[in-house]
Amino acid sequence: MRRLASKDLVIATHNAGKLAEFRELLAPYGINVIPAGDLGLVEPEETESTFAGNARIKAHFAARESGLPALSDDSGICVEALGGAPGVHTADWAETPDGRDFPMAMKKVWDLLEAQNAPEPRRASFICTLCLAWPDGHDEIFEGRVDGRLVWPMRGDRGFGFDPIFLPDGESQTFGEMDPARKKEISHRSDAFRKLIRGSLA
Ligand code: IMP
Repeated sequence: MRRLASKDLVIATHNAGKLAEFRELLAPYGINVIPAGDLGLVEPEETESTFAGNARIKAHFAARESGLPALSDDSGICVEALGGAPGVHTADWAETPDGRDFPMAMKKVWDLLEAQNAPEPRRASFICTLCLAWPDGHDEIFEGRVDGRLVWPMRGDRGFGFDPIFLPDGESQTFGEMDPARKKEISHRSDAFRKLIRGSLA
């Protein structure tokens, strides 16, 4: 597995929340984090049907354009009884003409499960795939996940996205109710970050 030799790393996201998470994670490794937006890079279209495919599009585009290594992520929730949907389209399911509406998207998921009388427990997983890409075209992929089940009604207002209906295995609180510090210990994103650190940074 290739290790990151350069101190400069472009973060291929225009999402302020993700950028803050990346910064916090990378701080102990003396890495100079460069947001893609600061380089004037646009966001490429995510046209692949897998998390890894879309993470690759974002990281390779940023690495090619900047001439520096670049890190991207792609994430979402996969519901077993829906054949893995919404998956890579998780954010799209929340789109409305007035912006993203996650309560609506969660209701859409739950209504589909009800309509097909899906048996309990309604299994689901959050997935986060990181791609570290170099300007020469090489990349490394790190996939994190957390398994659990969906519950209804929504519970808690501490998280974001689909957090209020996701109950991780072995926990009594949904991601929406949970102390953010606990979510950070067990989340799909932390799992992927740990793999990145072990594989290419530490
Ligand atoms: P993307 O990675 O920017 O394409 O967005 C993935 C979408 O998945 C987000 O908009 C969220 O709705 C959802 N998602 C990803 N991670 C989480 C999480 O930790 N909690 C809740 N929703 C999440």
